[in-house]
Amino acid sequence: MFHFNIKHLSLAASVCLVASSACAAIKVNGSYFSPRNKEREKRPATTLLTLHTTEAPSVSALRKLSEMGECHYCIDEAGRVYSIIDPRRIAFHSGRSMWSGKQEADNFAIGIEVCGYHNKPLSVAQTQSLKELIALIKTTYKLTDAQVVPHSQIAYGAPNKWQPRSHRGRKRCGMQFAMPSIRTKLGLKSRPPRDPDVVAKRLVIADPALAEVLYGKMSAFTAPQPKDYEPKSISPMIGKKPSARPSSGYQTIGVSNRAQDIAGKAVRSSTTLYVYPNGRYSTGNLLTSGAILKLPYGTKVLLDYLVAGSVSSQRPPLLICGSKWKLPSTYYLLNGALIPGNMVDDSKIYTGTPIFVRKD
Ligand SMILES: [Zn+2]
Repeated sequence: MFHFNIKHLSLAASVCLVASSACAAIKVNGSYFSPRNKEREKRPATTLLTLHTTEAPSVSALRKLSEMGECHYCIDEAGRVYSIIDPRRIAFHSGRSMWSGKQEADNFAIGIEVCGYHNKPLSVAQTQSLKELIALIKTTYKLTDAQVVPHSQIAYGAPNKWQPRSHRGRKRCGMQFAMPSIRTKLGLKSRPPRDPDVVAKRLVIADPALAEVLYGKMSAFTAPQPKDYEPKSISPMIGKKPSARPSSGYQTIGVSNRAQDIAGKAVRSSTTLYVYPNGRYSTGNLLTSGAILKLPYGTKVLLDYLVAGSVSSQRPPLLICGSKWKLPSTYYLLNGALIPGNMVDDSKIYTGTPIFVRKD
């Protein structure tokens, strides 16, 4: 592992010549520079800076980003900046994307991956490094603050079984970078006031909670509740104290982890869910005490969960559980595996997929 000043990285030289004062502060680590770089064409234009969250720790994220050439820069938890792809070339970080009617943002966007999660605060060191890197890139490419956007703001989904139209809300990547409080820390004063592609009816909104974070005042660190779901829980969304129990997750029955060890008095509760290794499931109240004792090893136990419903063409996930459909605490039972809402690929959800939501 070695560090060197960005101006010594010849591939990044064009960045530095323009903004030499900002360069001095940024050290770029070249140890994950992508082997794909040489295959990539020069980017014809740069009119956006896209910010991503890796949704994985740097240990695994850096390796994958480098192998696939999926961003220009990556910032790890300690605030170290890694060069992945020459900033003048194309990195594959946007996927299906659109902004102001222009598709394939990789052709006009430079991308920074931050090792972290879309709904968790960054470290102080990461925030500082990101602020410096944003300033450098803005100066180099003459970008305005509103041209610095989270990936989720420009990603879109193609029509599928559940969304008959092309839609915004394919992913929540980097959504915290739209919040005014975070943008201030990053030296950004403004953000896009509205979604140009929704306004022009090229796209519809599929994730109202994301739209609220991008264009409203909602904090990305609290779970927004949809208005059509459990209305009594709507008001105290912001500044709500985290509950003592884990926000998500489940435990698995094993030799030393029996159902009663995991669920205690709630073993036969209607809000305790058992998901068997064969992909079937039951709530505790439907099982006898004998059946609970015989639950096979590998059965997953979810405490304080409700079966929200099963997906059908008339009942897409958004109708079943409102904006909870993308929460990390919401689970989709797909081929026997429990996939959190923030990880689920909505094009892979098939008819009959049960959705489990955490009870508030
Ligand atoms: Zn992303």
